[in-house]
Amino acid sequence: VTFVEKQSFLKELLTKEMPLVRAVDGVDLTIKKGEILSLVGESGSGKTTLGKAILHLVDIAEGEILFQNQAVNFKHKKETRRFRQKAQVIFQDPYQSLNPRNLIIDIVAEPLEVNGLVKTEAERKERVMKALQDAGLDPPESYLYRYPYELSGGQRQRVAIASALILDPAFIVADEPVSMLDVSIRAGILKLLVELKESKGLAFLFITHDLSLAWLISDRIAIMYLGKIMEIGESDTVIKQAEHPYTQALLDVMPIPEVNRHRQRKVLSGESPNPTNIPAGCRFHPRCPHAFDRCREEEPVLQAVNPHHLAACHLIEKKKTQEKSHD
Ligand code: SF4
Repeated sequence: VTFVEKQSFLKELLTKEMPLVRAVDGVDLTIKKGEILSLVGESGSGKTTLGKAILHLVDIAEGEILFQNQAVNFKHKKETRRFRQKAQVIFQDPYQSLNPRNLIIDIVAEPLEVNGLVKTEAERKERVMKALQDAGLDPPESYLYRYPYELSGGQRQRVAIASALILDPAFIVADEPVSMLDVSIRAGILKLLVELKESKGLAFLFITHDLSLAWLISDRIAIMYLGKIMEIGESDTVIKQAEHPYTQALLDVMPIPEVNRHRQRKVLSGESPNPTNIPAGCRFHPRCPHAFDRCREEEPVLQAVNPHHLAACHLIEKKKTQEKSHD
């Protein structure tokens, strides 16, 4: 391939119209103080985009973010800064999220400095030590002057958590925070998130592809598929009385006998979700073992299975109609 050919290929690629992707569509979520809400779905479901949209790390075409009952005006710099202090994020990869050239004290203190919140070196050090301790790094002074490469994966993720805690947030988006960690240290990080929720009243959006992890730590679970919430409710209810066929398919691969003992396992078939090609009607219909004519034409909306449990599936109405006709 000549240089000229490469250039024309590149030009073609750059001028090509990219398909419009509606990664998150019509999602309405409320997360309460002192609550962990897990957002569960396969890759391509839009869960990470939703986490970023809530923090305004990506632009939202339509919709708004309400924080402590007030709509956040992201055109207003002061308001945006206040929101950013109170809403933090923990990323998946503790190996990439920490600057390898900085000492732990500088990494954790950075949000304080960016926001002009410390005046003296003593105050800075004290606040970093408190955040490290809150993140379970004890004794904190033994971590201050070390570099990320001197720490284990679990310790690095705790440093990332400390830098999320240092501004005393009210809400944290934790995006797959244990998926890059060794299985043996995952439980410690999950336990820490639950402790922080309880001791500080923190609200978490816990993003994961692993339904069993979600069940372990959350108060409520929301199941996402191709940008929409398919089912939402209290953790135990979603796991033990799953209503949506997609949730049921995710449960079928969960290694928990207590949940799967009485279930007839079905392997989810069909293509993985593709946000550039969303099927008409129910977006899950090409993979749904229960799909019927209506599913291919009409998109189901979330409806109550019981007061705290919602699912978006035409089967709910079908079942209710059948029950009525039997009465
Ligand atoms: Fe399956 Fe139809 Fe329910 Fe969609 S609406 S999940 S296709 S049964």
